[in-house]
Amino acid sequence: MAEEKRYVEVLLPLKLKRTLTYRLPDGWTAAPGAWVQVPLRGHTALGVVTGICGSAPAGVPLSTIGEVTALVDKPGVGVAETAFWQDIADYYLCTPGEVFKAAYNAGLQRAVLQPDKPAGPKKPRRKAAPTDDFSLKPLSDAQAAALDRIGKGFSAGKPVLLHGVTGSGKTELYLHLAAERLRQGRDVLYLVPEIAVSKQLQQRLAAVFGDRLLLYHSQATVPQRYRVIDTLRRDPTPRIVLGTRSAVFLPLRNLGLVVVDEEHDRSYKQDDMAPRYNGRDAALMLAARHGADVVLGSATPSCESLYNVQTRKFAQVELPQRFFGGDDPVVEVIDTARERRLHNMEGSFSRKLLKEMASVLDAGLQVMVFRSRRAYAPVVQCGACGETVHCPNCHVALSYHRFNNQLSCHYCGYHRPYTLRCPSCGEVALVELGAGTERIEEELQAAFPGRRIARFDADTTQSRLAQERMIRDFAAGDIDILVGTQMITKGFDFERLAMVVLVSADSLFAVPDFRSDERASQLIRQLQGRSGRRGQQSRIVIQTAQPDHPVIRQLLHPDARPAAGLLAERRQFNYPPYVRMMAVTVKDKFEGRLWNVSRLVREAAEAVGIADIAGPVTPAVDMVAGEHIAQFWIKLPRTRTLAAAKRAFYERIEQIDSDFKGRTTIVIDVDPQ
Ligand code: ADP
Ligand code: ZN
Repeated sequence: MAEEKRYVEVLLPLKLKRTLTYRLPDGWTAAPGAWVQVPLRGHTALGVVTGICGSAPAGVPLSTIGEVTALVDKPGVGVAETAFWQDIADYYLCTPGEVFKAAYNAGLQRAVLQPDKPAGPKKPRRKAAPTDDFSLKPLSDAQAAALDRIGKGFSAGKPVLLHGVTGSGKTELYLHLAAERLRQGRDVLYLVPEIAVSKQLQQRLAAVFGDRLLLYHSQATVPQRYRVIDTLRRDPTPRIVLGTRSAVFLPLRNLGLVVVDEEHDRSYKQDDMAPRYNGRDAALMLAARHGADVVLGSATPSCESLYNVQTRKFAQVELPQRFFGGDDPVVEVIDTARERRLHNMEGSFSRKLLKEMASVLDAGLQVMVFRSRRAYAPVVQCGACGETVHCPNCHVALSYHRFNNQLSCHYCGYHRPYTLRCPSCGEVALVELGAGTERIEEELQAAFPGRRIARFDADTTQSRLAQERMIRDFAAGDIDILVGTQMITKGFDFERLAMVVLVSADSLFAVPDFRSDERASQLIRQLQGRSGRRGQQSRIVIQTAQPDHPVIRQLLHPDARPAAGLLAERRQFNYPPYVRMMAVTVKDKFEGRLWNVSRLVREAAEAVGIADIAGPVTPAVDMVAGEHIAQFWIKLPRTRTLAAAKRAFYERIEQIDSDFKGRTTIVIDVDPQ
């Protein structure tokens, strides 16, 4: 007689090292992947069965083994999914339970537990069977040739980097590739860095794919998200899912193609909690597991992807011409140091630039103005004692926001009403230094009275609706000048946008990070890509006090290949992608303990043979929300022992972490952004 399967291994959505064993009540059966409810520390938790066995594991006293409290009658989790969770956990050094939690947050866990709504009386099915007859635009010759080469890359079993200027028709190619996969009966995952800015893309996809299209992103409600999960589990119709990074965790069963749009974008990286994964790289792992093809698209590919092209891991296909033709936007650089000496600056803008903007506006065209800092003034300083005003919890200056008359901290959210009185010396002598987006908007209102000016930043677009409205108004021509932060650089397509202004490139160059030049250059090229998309002549004007900065020089060079220079520099200084990097951050309220724990971290690295470790160092912002911060940078050679070295280090750090639990926080970030 077969032995009774009385025990199950259950994975819980928690940071636990391993699965837990539970007993099944008599007469119950559960298959791997099944959802169960189990007791845990006086509560019930939702878990997934990962294994079934006839006897309790050796060494575990039977009395300590809890009993499964309920079987959840919902389609279970696939083996491919739990295996993928393990892949992510192994690579990013966390537990599969933490990945499970990223795939199913508390809200989605509750949704799993809700019983299905009873099916009402069956309505006659009016809906036509899903069609394969997607109406696509015929491709240009250049696009058709590119599509052909992408197919060759796929046949060689390689992910393809589609490197094409903005407006070259990459999206149109994705649509063709996606349609082909759907017709073959396979699913398509289409990743974008942020959904808020992809409304135009959403509409374009919906027009082609109709109800084959599903949307999945973090701004959607739990019921909306759960519906996508449930549809994928129950309905075998091939689907295309448009989503942000967390869509890699969807139960796509027959994945045939992954598109990673704007693959260089740092929003793909989750850095605030485990798993600290990059959606692009996770998508590559997912595709490998499913035998799916991958196309990564960008006008400004990441160093990582260019490296993968160089080492022949990826195939590359280029699309150098804009679909509607027209020249690239003209680049104009204004030396603000010189203009200032000649008294040609008016606030944040040179007079020459203001004139050029006026003529664009007079022609009925639009201007976009980029500034990397929100707020009215990034710093306030006392004119009497010279002190700048700092956050009481963080080592950062408070920004002044005029719209609510508050001084606020962009790190911890601390804020208080602004008075002109200096908190240090008590004199009424505070002055606002520098100009953030809010002040830029005010300056533009003064310079262009009667023009419609709007500001697009985290202060004005808290709701998705507000964001969408502003984008719609700008697209419709109801706004003449749009001022904004990074948020305005992404993916929009505005017909009448003829000029993009970068108020100060210097703030981009000042970031102390090995990626800052790559980022500055990508950002400028993305801004450049916003205008002139319909073939009209357009320009990007860059104000900087460092017109000889390498990023600017490369931009002005007609055959600029910024990537080649950046890669050479990365190789010379031994930075990723030539090595693998990990950042370790240690935080503690007490500075003494911070340095003690930091010493242990360093010893742990040395003990497992990590040779290249810098730190502990004090980061530029060395205190946030009352906690002191120390940091390490670890470089690991890309050899076969890499995974083992990472794992050994992780295990030691976990030990230190549990010894100091609740007092010191240690975070490992693999491939930090
Ligand atoms: P990218 O994704 O590279 O920025 P898009 O695919 O958005 O480029 O194309 C730029 C513009 O050209 C869009 O307005 C798009 O509708 C149009 N376009 C691209 N390919 C075609 C095509 N084959 N036929 C008609 N219009 C096209
Ligand atoms: Zn603060």
